[in-house]
Amino acid sequence: MVAGHLAVGLIGHDRMKENWGLANVFLLGSILPDFDMAWWLWLSDRQVSHHTYWTHLPAFWLTLFAIALAFGACAGLKSMLRPLLVFGAAILAHLIMDTHVGGILWAYPFSDHKFCLFAVPNDNGHFLVSAILHWTFLIEVPLILIAAYVTLRRLFSIGFRRNSIGYNFQ
Ligand SMILES: [Zn+2]
Repeated sequence: MVAGHLAVGLIGHDRMKENWGLANVFLLGSILPDFDMAWWLWLSDRQVSHHTYWTHLPAFWLTLFAIALAFGACAGLKSMLRPLLVFGAAILAHLIMDTHVGGILWAYPFSDHKFCLFAVPNDNGHFLVSAILHWTFLIEVPLILIAAYVTLRRLFSIGFRRNSIGYNFQ
């Protein structure tokens, strides 16, 4: 769920706080695949899960990653490597988390099998209510609590001022 992904992003952001740019790359990557929820919620007929969209396909991200790596190598941009690795790790964490409920097409395009550990039935009328009331949401609760703690601790410790380290990918 989005809350769990955001929690992982915020925890990672806190762990990388000495490098504001990389921390933001991790935070963005941890939630980016779920931006497809806007399409799924408002523009689709919701007949298929948003986990089947290209934004949730490991094959898409792997291809994009390979192209970016190749471009960086050809252009001699060594500075691209760390942000790419951090971004890739965040996307991978997102897809692994989505595997426990909802499922991910890990073997696509070779197979349409959706790998899913636990199915969450939509038996409470709304998918969000069903997801929150299902026991698998308990897995996300500690992540959300830790993220709230580290984020609030940081906000109070810096007095809500901008991080003085600045934006630096190195
Ligand atoms: Zn997702």
